Amino acid sequence: MKKYHVIVFGCQMNISDAERVASVLESAKYTKTDDITKADVIIVTMCSIRQSAVDRIHGLVEKFRKLKTTNHKLQTILTGCVLKKDKKIFIEGFDIVLDIKDIKRIPEILGIKKVKNAENYLDVAPKYENQFSANVPIMTGCNNFCAYCVVPYTREREISRPAKETISEVRNLIRNGYKEIWLLGQNVNSYKDCSTNFSKLLKKINDIPGEFWVRFTSSHPKDFDDDVINAMAEHGHITPYLNLPVQSGDDKVLKSMNRHYTVAEYKNKIKKLREKIPDIAISTDIIVGFPDETKKQFLNTAKLFREVKYDMAYINKYSARAGTAAAKLKDNVSLTEKKNREKILTDILKETALEHNKKFIGKETLVLFNEHRKDSYFGKNEQYKTIKVVSQENLLGKMLKVKIIEARPFILHGKIV
Ligand code: SF4
Repeated sequence: MKKYHVIVFGCQMNISDAERVASVLESAKYTKTDDITKADVIIVTMCSIRQSAVDRIHGLVEKFRKLKTTNHKLQTILTGCVLKKDKKIFIEGFDIVLDIKDIKRIPEILGIKKVKNAENYLDVAPKYENQFSANVPIMTGCNNFCAYCVVPYTREREISRPAKETISEVRNLIRNGYKEIWLLGQNVNSYKDCSTNFSKLLKKINDIPGEFWVRFTSSHPKDFDDDVINAMAEHGHITPYLNLPVQSGDDKVLKSMNRHYTVAEYKNKIKKLREKIPDIAISTDIIVGFPDETKKQFLNTAKLFREVKYDMAYINKYSARAGTAAAKLKDNVSLTEKKNREKILTDILKETALEHNKKFIGKETLVLFNEHRKDSYFGKNEQYKTIKVVSQENLLGKMLKVKIIEARPFILHGKIV
């Protein structure tokens, strides 16, 4: 039996892509191997958002070249978020570079007849990697064209998946014991299938009986509206956690990023969220050192950080991605200054995250355990806080009550109740 090996570089969406690629290959009677040297076909699902991920693909090409000296029949396929201009470069290092929407073609490419479940990318039933937490894409693509982002070029325009299909997938997952459902898309808040928008989809999923949590990513502040806030507040399965990427705390920088909201509008949404869902944990994404970002403009971001008091933030130093509007601007904030700005935000974040985490001390919180290292198990609670518990018993996949005994900025320590 022929074997495949999958390598994922990137976000949850790329993991979800890989689960669909695996499904297509297994329908074509391939089996998975973790040993790359035993593979007949290697599939890489990549992310183009950061240059570092693209650089890692270049590193892989060399590895594949060496593998092919002993395994002459090895085939290598690159898919996921691939920029058109990068396709021309990567085609020299891979046998095939494929748009993710064309994964249905993989069996044909490998010389096998078309398989039934590979007719459409979002229709492909995934081979879930995890037994208790599942990624469920609800849409793909993006219409927003943020100045720094390649996604609208790699994934093209937004397509929402039929609500019926999504709900049926979630229902099956819950029936099979899944405890955590991640609804995925580049801009989930603009989901639309006939009369079902994102808040209505949340309601429909919430109505499925069972014990499960629903999380979603990515959100866009421009599309994140009152209806979604109300759905989160009213429906018990939707966890009190939100990642709402602000990217900058300065209106002029937001405008040059083409984000279509102001800092005041963003803060107003956070205020409404906290009024309706007092125990909500909020994280954000930030870019420091965007072209022409002055010290004063950056200080507005630092001010926003102090005001919002985030639980978590994913801070990125700006680097140009070819093909985007921002790449035409001069990358004129030095690396030293970007690192300095990153550190200022990280220091504020450590304080605010610790302030939030201390509130958990002495309290009980439900945790879904998803990782095991040495004598410790790690999991997430509803607020997506990382919780560590020392245990001899296998806790993986279990949802258990934990009493918090210690709080640090990015982790809570606890004991099983
Ligand atoms: S909303 Fe902006 S950052 Fe997000 S995928 Fe679309 S273009 Fe990229």
